[in-house]
Amino acid sequence: MSFATGLLCRECGTAYPAEARYSCEYCFGPLEVSYDIEGAKGVVTRESIANGPNSIWRYGALLPDPGVEPVDLGAGWTPLRRASRLADVLGVKELWLKDDTRNPTGSFKDRVVSVALSSARRLGFSTAACASTGNLATSVAAHAAFIGWPSVAIIPSDLEKSKVAMTAIFGGTVLGVEGNYDDVNRLCVELVAEHPDWAFANVNLRPYYAEGSKTLAFEICEQLGWRTPDQVVVPVASGSQLTKVAKGFREFIELGLVDGDAPVLFGAQATGCSPIATAFAEGADVVTPQRPNTIARSLAIGNPADGPYVLDELRANGGDCGSVPDSEILECIGLLARTEGVFAETAGGVTIASLRQMINRGTIDPDKSIVAIISGHGLKTLDAVVDTATFSSTISPSLADAEEALRFHQLVSSAS
Ligand SMILES: *Cc1c(COP(=O)(O)O)cnc(C)c1O
Ligand SMILES: [Zn+2]
Repeated sequence: MSFATGLLCRECGTAYPAEARYSCEYCFGPLEVSYDIEGAKGVVTRESIANGPNSIWRYGALLPDPGVEPVDLGAGWTPLRRASRLADVLGVKELWLKDDTRNPTGSFKDRVVSVALSSARRLGFSTAACASTGNLATSVAAHAAFIGWPSVAIIPSDLEKSKVAMTAIFGGTVLGVEGNYDDVNRLCVELVAEHPDWAFANVNLRPYYAEGSKTLAFEICEQLGWRTPDQVVVPVASGSQLTKVAKGFREFIELGLVDGDAPVLFGAQATGCSPIATAFAEGADVVTPQRPNTIARSLAIGNPADGPYVLDELRANGGDCGSVPDSEILECIGLLARTEGVFAETAGGVTIASLRQMINRGTIDPDKSIVAIISGHGLKTLDAVVDTATFSSTISPSLADAEEALRFHQLVSSAS
């Protein structure tokens, strides 16, 4: 059972039932799912959660009502790994990686789509759709295939080929738009008006979609032995993940399920699309849109819907926001792979490079615990690394050639 009670306007607090509505009738503010936290106290316990399935649905009581049964392709319950070798390189004491590469379609988007399509099915929809920078399209197409729904994924036409293929393979309709994500998003808002019977995961189902990100915070707490970490680094595109991770920690604390205070949250952006990092650095309350130009395509949203809320969360207790160039993103994909055996997509490079930047400028405390969210698998952005991650040498099939190459790479001594 779910303790969700309905929807609340984030701006004026007007309450609505849990229906297909995403903005307030009175002030056009965004809506958010609300819960009977008091009612959940003592019912939602560490034990009741631990007895649940090994997916995000172990936290079903704190997610929107999925109806008869959730659309569960197995999103979530991904590993939280201690990253001691990377911690040594970065000069910090306690570093953890939340390895969300390990989701059904290789990114954290499976969490939000599982929740969005469950709510969509409960509300009577039967077609899935989305505006996407790539990973959401893949996840919507996969989850729709899983329940036999048609899907319409709308993405920029110049996205990585790997992401287009990973989406098209599930058999839905994939529309490539000649424009950037902000053009795609504008188009989808118009399409929602024309096709109100389509469940656009991140438009008309957005309040439900967003709740899926809370499960990152829930899992981190549970996997740390029911304690909160001190600091969490979150990649930021629209800002939905960061704001809902913050909400997740708050709900667990309010329920008394976890020891410790709310962690300090840190954002991570690519300099080629860093409107939130810029607003944060300038002390601005509004986010000025930017035309994206970065290899971190999954984070390339120039006009982030949740921008002001991200700024509030970052400023709540001493956070910061990284802004890193593409060269450092690539370097840190390699650093993470070499030190920890985890292959991340470009967004993961953004997270690690931002982590390093904020340690170096002293906003992240090296003596306190840190969790970095690695939100997508490296196979999704293979194009970014294929030219540099390649053969050490190419040799003829002869022992002499092999030995010479091994000497060259200093695997055997060259003294002879
Ligand atoms: C979508 C996405 C994010 C974060 O997106 P928000 O819009 O800020 O919620 C982070 N990493 C990856 C890999 C993504 O695909
Ligand atoms: Zn309102």
